Amino acid sequence: MNIQAELISIGNELLSGRTLNTHGRDLGHALSAIGLRLMRDTTIPDEIGTIGDAIEDALGRVDLVFVSGGLGPTVDDITRDALAKLLDQKTILHQPTVEIMTERYAARGRKMTLAATRQALILETAEALPNSVGAAPGQRIAPCAGKTLFVLPGPPNEFNAILNEEIVPWLKKEFSGARPLFVRIIHTQGIGESDIVTILEEAAFQPEGVELGFYPAMGKVEIRLTARPDLKGQVAEAEQTLRRLLADFLDRD
Ligand code: AMP
Ligand code: MG
Repeated sequence: MNIQAELISIGNELLSGRTLNTHGRDLGHALSAIGLRLMRDTTIPDEIGTIGDAIEDALGRVDLVFVSGGLGPTVDDITRDALAKLLDQKTILHQPTVEIMTERYAARGRKMTLAATRQALILETAEALPNSVGAAPGQRIAPCAGKTLFVLPGPPNEFNAILNEEIVPWLKKEFSGARPLFVRIIHTQGIGESDIVTILEEAAFQPEGVELGFYPAMGKVEIRLTARPDLKGQVAEAEQTLRRLLADFLDRD
């Protein structure tokens, strides 16, 4: 089972260097833990045409598309409008969200404004995904057969709450046959990447079905061996060979 996903991160501030985009990391982590693969994280500005194009392109490539940001009450929050235009749908007020927001406002002695109410707008065919830590709900939309579009708010705590509380359980049920990739990790020290590669090339080390990743940092290199869960045996064999070839440089911690 090879279920692929893409993320579209929306926000001028993500491109200008003001805000670090953390959604790709968090989504990649959550999806790989349940055996689904994040294939791309496209960061784009708050522009209606660009948002529509990016979503359409992603839906053409993969079955699961995550869209984040631009669901707030301000003029630059145009993700809903972009989706409405692309999918030729209306947006509707999600009444349960309006009620929750009204209660939360009242508890703080405030009245719901028209601007705040905008956060309760969802696409007409969307299922609202409750936001336990903020206003705008997430949305699950089936734009066409076999494709699922998730729309999530930008603040990382809200993005992660909806992802972990609503979306991951849904995905686990929907793709119950998915299994996480099998990963083994080796750390080296006192040897650079190019010398590691020379040792591996001289030994013609090219394990079948096992993906190798090299991640250098501060004099050490992390080597990750990744494969489908049914290829555990190949990974174990490759790890043994690697440990033998790099025996003088293994980091013990
Ligand atoms: P928005 O939903 O676009 O109104 O964004 C609300 C807040 O979330 C802003 O402070 C954004 O900078 C932040 N935010 C939006 N997208 C991301 C992201 N991908 N990573 C981290 N922060 C984000
Ligand atoms: Mg924004």
